[in-house]
Amino acid sequence: MPRRLFVTTALPYANGPFHIGHIMEYIQADVWVRFQRMQGHEVHFMGADDAHGAPIMLAAEKAGKSPEAFIAEVSRGRAQYLDGFHISFDNWHSTHSPENSELSRGIYAGLKAAGLVYPRRIEQLYDPVKGMFLADRYIKGECPNCGAQDQYGDACENCSTVYAAAELKNPYSTLSGAKPELRSAEHLFFRLSDPRCVAFLQEWIDAPGRLQPQVANKAREWLQAEGERALADWDISRDAPYFGIEIPDAPGKYFYVWLDAPIGYFASFKNYCAKKGMDYQAFMTDPETEMIHFIGKDIIYFHTLFWPAMLKFSGNKLPDSVYVHGFITVSGEKMSKSRGTGISPLRYLEVGMNPEWLRYYIAAKLNANVEDVDFNPDDFLARVNADLVGKYVNIARRAAHVITKQFGGELKYEGDTGALVHGARASALSCSEFYEAREFGKVIRDIMSAADRINQAFDARQPWLLAPDTTRRRELQDICSRALHGFKLLTVLLAPVLPALASRVARELFGMDRDFVWTDAEVLPARVLPYRHLMTRIDEKQLDRLFDIAPEAPQVALPASRTPAAAQAAAAPEAAGATGTTIGIEEFAKIDLRVARIARAEPVEGADKLLRLTLDLGAESRPVFAGIKSAYQPADLEGRLTVVVANLAPRKMKFGLSQGMILAASGENSPGIYLLSPDAGAQPGMRVK
Ligand SMILES: [Zn+2]
Repeated sequence: MPRRLFVTTALPYANGPFHIGHIMEYIQADVWVRFQRMQGHEVHFMGADDAHGAPIMLAAEKAGKSPEAFIAEVSRGRAQYLDGFHISFDNWHSTHSPENSELSRGIYAGLKAAGLVYPRRIEQLYDPVKGMFLADRYIKGECPNCGAQDQYGDACENCSTVYAAAELKNPYSTLSGAKPELRSAEHLFFRLSDPRCVAFLQEWIDAPGRLQPQVANKAREWLQAEGERALADWDISRDAPYFGIEIPDAPGKYFYVWLDAPIGYFASFKNYCAKKGMDYQAFMTDPETEMIHFIGKDIIYFHTLFWPAMLKFSGNKLPDSVYVHGFITVSGEKMSKSRGTGISPLRYLEVGMNPEWLRYYIAAKLNANVEDVDFNPDDFLARVNADLVGKYVNIARRAAHVITKQFGGELKYEGDTGALVHGARASALSCSEFYEAREFGKVIRDIMSAADRINQAFDARQPWLLAPDTTRRRELQDICSRALHGFKLLTVLLAPVLPALASRVARELFGMDRDFVWTDAEVLPARVLPYRHLMTRIDEKQLDRLFDIAPEAPQVALPASRTPAAAQAAAAPEAAGATGTTIGIEEFAKIDLRVARIARAEPVEGADKLLRLTLDLGAESRPVFAGIKSAYQPADLEGRLTVVVANLAPRKMKFGLSQGMILAASGENSPGIYLLSPDAGAQPGMRVK
């Protein structure tokens, strides 16, 4: 019985390009989806941009664009990533769409009719210059506890005190600098605490197989919490100005972005149905349809509480499964927005790295638990070069040459082939169970041990000794045929992970006029075409380029920390304590280190590694060029504090005068550039000594 599957990934926020975390999620979902398609199931794999909310409205304003133009530009950038990593969404849409407005209003009307929406007046800080209510992240001021300056509206970074934005002393709006006023406004709330919602969610969460055990535990904990942490009703409206969907019976009020974001799953599918001539309603009301969400662990709350409750009480289809994954770390370090993502997916493609290497590596590390996946460059290199190319691809290369040269491409097996077919069927069955359960690491482990066995069997019969012996040709043909049968089997099993490679193997090596389907695993191949090179190994230089460690980097491309004045230091070994020479305190005192605020950060045309920074040193501001573009987004740097060598002789560069040098750390063995920052409370112009 073919299954009907409606599969989604979390909708990315349309305020910037994809990072490696998005790509990991898409790879996980794509592997699962491709496996289901190979089984002959009906699969609809949907994606969309999450395009609403104040951050996008403000980012668009800053870029001098309308929000519509801003999100359209972000959306145009999606294809190069999705195509680049072979992510096979059937449709990519946007929450800023007619379908989403209509569906969101319908769900809202349903919740209202069920008596689950009510108004409540709330007090909130308001920016009188900007003319808008401020979320906590747009308010700063002095910590009411320790007095540290420039603390955000929710918690102090200096003393970790948590407070309400209205408690900040001398608060100011980060948007306009104005002093915010406390104003009251009427908001609409979704009554999540209603006994009907709680009873429904209890049952929904407990249904076996719906949620991973640790996810169900987390959801149960939220649902059953008491006192201060008890399940709260959900504020679902925002006042104008807001970029979103206006609430039909409440002019000037908009749905909070998190209300309409997941409805974007439906909007994308509805849009797709219209294009394909499919009946959206029929599909979504069919009890056989399975709805499956792949998400990250940061949005469990929305997908296990709000979302099913919203759907249930508006009379919509409920999710059958929510599959949660962990985050991706790079060499054990958590990705940080301000420090960059460790790996830029676009850079990965630009330096010519094979997207299927990454798909393979991520698949090898994924399992069904909510665990973080670590990208370790050495491990990546070893698994791709030694396993994927060295073990798997190598089988075809060795055996196909002999069959082509000596036997005109014809495969022939000696004796009973029943065991071969039986073994293939067993492997395919075991792999299919692992794929279904998202235990991709186990799939890869089994495939690599099978590759080991095939290579060992091939070597044990020493075909290179048989080749010159004309009396043992049938034996030689049998050895190579069995190896190629094994290679074909493994390729079918790997096809969800390596779709482009598998497609080439099907067509170029086995002469098929289509891609593999799962049942091809059992079919013994009868012929091969001449072997064509399938996959190269990773060159270590590519990894260096991915992380931007450029030993031959031209002068202007060096990080500011390695410009001439620092050249002596850079020439010495970087390992701590290994420099050999010491300096006196007087010599150190000659270096004027100051705290500086990065007032502006902008790319430099014609320099792919440099950013032009405008530094605020308190009494003055200065231009400084820094080779940190690979690690930081300009927007993330603006406003942060760092340390500058203030008395460095000005240096004339191709792009202008650089008056100073900012300090950053980098290591020989760990890629990345890490800008220094003082602790909270430091002020621009302060001396570092
Ligand atoms: Zn504090």
